[in-house]
Amino acid sequence: MSLSRKDKGPAGDLSPYVPDTSAILTGKIDLLSMNCVLPSAVLGEIRKGKMGRIMENSAFNVRIMSPSSTFLNRIAEAARLTGDLPFLSQVDMEILAVALEIHGKVISDDYSMQNVCSSMGIEYMGCGIDSIKSNITWGYVCKGCGAKFENMMAECRVCGHNITRYPLNQDRARSQ
Ligand SMILES: [Zn+2]
Repeated sequence: MSLSRKDKGPAGDLSPYVPDTSAILTGKIDLLSMNCVLPSAVLGEIRKGKMGRIMENSAFNVRIMSPSSTFLNRIAEAARLTGDLPFLSQVDMEILAVALEIHGKVISDDYSMQNVCSSMGIEYMGCGIDSIKSNITWGYVCKGCGAKFENMMAECRVCGHNITRYPLNQDRARSQ
């Protein structure tokens, strides 16, 4: 697939991409030529690995920013409403908040992140598996006894095992 595009953002410029760590690690994203903004938390994750050494040795010229608490709070509130909050890491939240703040386009294969983007009108794209086309409705199922629930809960009220979730309206999607 191609990551290039010609559409213009609201300001007339190409809106910047905000890739998550795993998107960068696929190697499909050309940080040197694409207009990317990295949340500082993503840079922190990348620097732990091989890609970090590559980036420090090259003419790495990507904007780094930390989201303001205003936008982090808006993401947290939206994620609470969609039910995705328990599935988002702090780094995930920062990616979404940066994208919201700068009208960027998130690159992530994470269903929870895509779902929050969809609910908030943030542009997003996947980089490996197909991205979801609309909001996922989740069902919840016990890992122990298989009981199904409509709402997330800390543990199964039948047997006490952990609950996981699965998409009710996506044929190809997987549970997380
Ligand atoms: Zn159970």
